[in-house]
Amino acid sequence: MSLTLATTVPGEPEIFASLQGEGPSAGRPCVFVRLSRCNLACRWCDTAYTWRFIGDIRPHRDDLTFERSENQITIDPREVAMRVLAMRPSRVVITGGEPLLQGAELAKLIPLLKEAVPGLQVEIETNGSVPPPHALTMLVDQFNISPKLSHSGNDPNLALVPELLRDWAANQKAWFKFVVASPADIAEVSELQALYRIQPERLFVMPEGTESGPLRTRSKWLAQEAITHNWRFSDRLHIHLYGDTRGT
Ligand code: SF4
Repeated sequence: MSLTLATTVPGEPEIFASLQGEGPSAGRPCVFVRLSRCNLACRWCDTAYTWRFIGDIRPHRDDLTFERSENQITIDPREVAMRVLAMRPSRVVITGGEPLLQGAELAKLIPLLKEAVPGLQVEIETNGSVPPPHALTMLVDQFNISPKLSHSGNDPNLALVPELLRDWAANQKAWFKFVVASPADIAEVSELQALYRIQPERLFVMPEGTESGPLRTRSKWLAQEAITHNWRFSDRLHIHLYGDTRGT
């Protein structure tokens, strides 16, 4: 069994210490593990190097493709654990790409981490369209579910899976984080909230953007929408701190 991670530079897995920039744990120091591969293809994806490899013609805003061998590394979960533990984490965020594509392997990694650090918290960032193995659900403390709206450009039949969204909405470990690009997206968030009965205190809206300027511009009207709808608002702290860079 092995895990396929993204890289910061060729051959170096993207495992790093930073602050969680988004959602319910924003501001917490965490060690991040970024996995490679995704089942979706969002037009504005800020980690296209995890999935848009040479030959992939699905549309993307930047229209870049990436050499797979330079942007992926496959390693044993024990080595991933060793690298994470060397950073002395109290909280680990597993992100991607879409981490749940490697759910069975993650169910092997997380016990290694939790056995070494009593009380360690583990959260997973997911687009919510891939079912987690039961063993993994039991191990993870928090799921950050980011269902992709129509502006992402994905086929809604792939991105929004009703039975999974129902399960996530009923899961007390799950928090929803909707990426919003324009005021036209608000009605779609409202519809999904009503359809799946997502509790408002577990629903975040977050502006789309990979630069501080556009994030601030969108935040102004999106904050007002959050107040109007009784939703929570999430910024993208890491973008303001570090810009759109790998390993942050
Ligand atoms: S689901 Fe996430 S990783 Fe996958 S394409 Fe969309 S934004 Fe990128």
